[in-house]
Amino acid sequence: MKNVTQHDVEKQIAELRQQIEKYNYEYYVLDKPSISDAEYDELMRKLMELEEQYPQYKTTDSPSQRVGGAPLEGFAKVLHRVPMLSLSNAFHEGDLRDFDRRVRQEVGDVRYVCELKIDGLAVSLRYENGYFVQGATRGDGTTGEDITENLKTIRSLPLRLRKQVTIEVRGEAYMPRQSFEKLNEKRKMNGEELFANPRNAAAGSLRQLDPKVVASRQLDIFVYHVVNAEELGFVSHSESLHYLDELGFKTNPARQVCETIDDVLSYIEQWHERRASLPYDIDGIVIKVDAFAQQKQLGATAKSPRWAIAYKFPAEEVVTQLVDIELSV
Ligand code: NAD
Repeated sequence: MKNVTQHDVEKQIAELRQQIEKYNYEYYVLDKPSISDAEYDELMRKLMELEEQYPQYKTTDSPSQRVGGAPLEGFAKVLHRVPMLSLSNAFHEGDLRDFDRRVRQEVGDVRYVCELKIDGLAVSLRYENGYFVQGATRGDGTTGEDITENLKTIRSLPLRLRKQVTIEVRGEAYMPRQSFEKLNEKRKMNGEELFANPRNAAAGSLRQLDPKVVASRQLDIFVYHVVNAEELGFVSHSESLHYLDELGFKTNPARQVCETIDDVLSYIEQWHERRASLPYDIDGIVIKVDAFAQQKQLGATAKSPRWAIAYKFPAEEVVTQLVDIELSV
């Protein structure tokens, strides 16, 4: 028979899963979160900690093992040829030092690329012979929604590249703060419900069935990943980002190559301070191993690559930001 403690743990795990599923639905399906991301991350952290401590309760259908949410009805489904994964999170300096230690133990000397973590939603874009042919949301990582027509309304998304290349890229579609404020002002005047933040507004907009409505939302995009980079002859992430520039994509200029984890930490520090001055929201910094050979060696779990990690900015800030938004509408 189980003792009381074990029963309690099992119950706590079940409760956490149920709570997280509810928040996932609100966030991914309704685009209407009822708790802050930091609170959500804390629940997920607790669940993962318990699952780690009590592996007998680990299940493949746990929200800790899954990416995003199911694609919505109303859009054609797109099967991702290479899954669109999530990123594992770091909240403290110690988490980053552990990550660095694990990476170096596995692959030896390493270079990282640090990038701003844009708070929008991940999209995948396919180009054939230089022409944009399909764009999709991440969905559950395996199957996304075909939002090609909606993505075409984003002015910075090239419909034709500068070279006749067949390429699949990934990036973050987002709503600049200014567009978000304008949109919420308009909604307030019309007595419509307000969006909680630019991220949810961007997600809600891209899933509008009428591209004219999407066009009025003034979204933007940063492209940060080439899916078939090795096929195209590149050996590192930084090299492929440079190629994205050459093709005419909008990439984020704040990226930086770092040789040591201390350099990574100063990059984080610097952007933590400058965060508020950006015209768009970022919720952290993404750190990626640069060399593809090393990325391959490190591999991935079902949910996230082992060669990258997302440092999330601390909670207080997120709360302040939410308050700011409430005051400004
Ligand atoms: P994530 O946001 O932690 O990280 C992965 C994502 O980062 C990628 O899919 C991509 O969209 C994005 N990204 C931005 N810039 C990037 C860059 N330069 N390079 C690579 N990727 C970049 O993971 P997730 O699975 O997208 O979302 C989970 C997070 O969503 C949670 O940690 C939480 O913050 C939030 N969430 C909140 C609620 C809520 O109720 N408040 C519910 C569900 C999820």
